[in-house]
Amino acid sequence: MYLKKLEMKGFKSFADKVVLNFERGITTIVGPNGSGKSNISDAVRLVLGEQSIKSLRGSKLEDIIFAGTEKRKPLGFAEVSLVFDNCDHMLPLDYSEVAITRRIFRSGESEFYINKTSCRLKDIYELFLDIGIGKDGYSIISQGKIDEILSTKPEERRRIFEEAAGISKYKYKKEEALKK
Ligand code: ATP
Ligand code: MG
Repeated sequence: MYLKKLEMKGFKSFADKVVLNFERGITTIVGPNGSGKSNISDAVRLVLGEQSIKSLRGSKLEDIIFAGTEKRKPLGFAEVSLVFDNCDHMLPLDYSEVAITRRIFRSGESEFYINKTSCRLKDIYELFLDIGIGKDGYSIISQGKIDEILSTKPEERRRIFEEAAGISKYKYKKEEALKK
């Protein structure tokens, strides 16, 4: 399984539809300061279910929707899709390609889709839980995160290691089971 494609429209600086195709292996994104490199990783995080606007480097929801320029009106919503190659069926779905989409509106509402079928945030969270690339899976380490990990309290650091080691999913499943 690997990330094959990222599509963005109306997300941060990407007003028009932008499609990035990735190959297997390592991809490096380079560009001048302020050109949108970090916005790309924010887009990935948004789809994986990030709910904290601060983590997406905004102070309010509107900050992640294209804000407009002198010549261009702001947009009403942002849409980001991640397309995974799932030929090895690492994602437990019967499809060889899995597209996860999130649409976010200025009102604060979010819509989620798995292969164009509407779903809940919980479905996306659970889909990625087993393979450790969820929003808290430490598969994305942002600028400043290393300092945060080093300066955090021991209990919090333990939580980080549990998440990275895949123990958190069992805790989550236990909590879900206890709710029933
Ligand atoms: P650096 O090398 O400094 O880390 P970067 O390539 O990571 O830079 P980003 O932080 O991804 O740059 O992009 C910042 C740009 O995105 C800024 O020019 C900012 O104006 C633009 N931007 C952020 N949010 C929005 C928005 N809602 N609407 C329009 N543009 C936005
Ligand atoms: Mg950056």
